[in-house]
Amino acid sequence: MKSKICALCKTEHTTLYRIQNQPGKIWIFVCELCCIQEKAKPHYRYGGTWKGYRH
Ligand SMILES: [Zn+2]
Repeated sequence: MKSKICALCKTEHTTLYRIQNQPGKIWIFVCELCCIQEKAKPHYRYGGTWKGYRH
């Protein structure tokens, strides 16, 4: 099982969401909680889910 660090809260997770939270072409990986918070922002875009494990 692999994990990544959330770009916002800096904690390790095995499932992250690829999102944009500002204008431009910068994508970041964030955890579920941060993703929910970022969804409220006007520049939020969702670009996929990353999983560090196989089903
Ligand atoms: Zn987070």
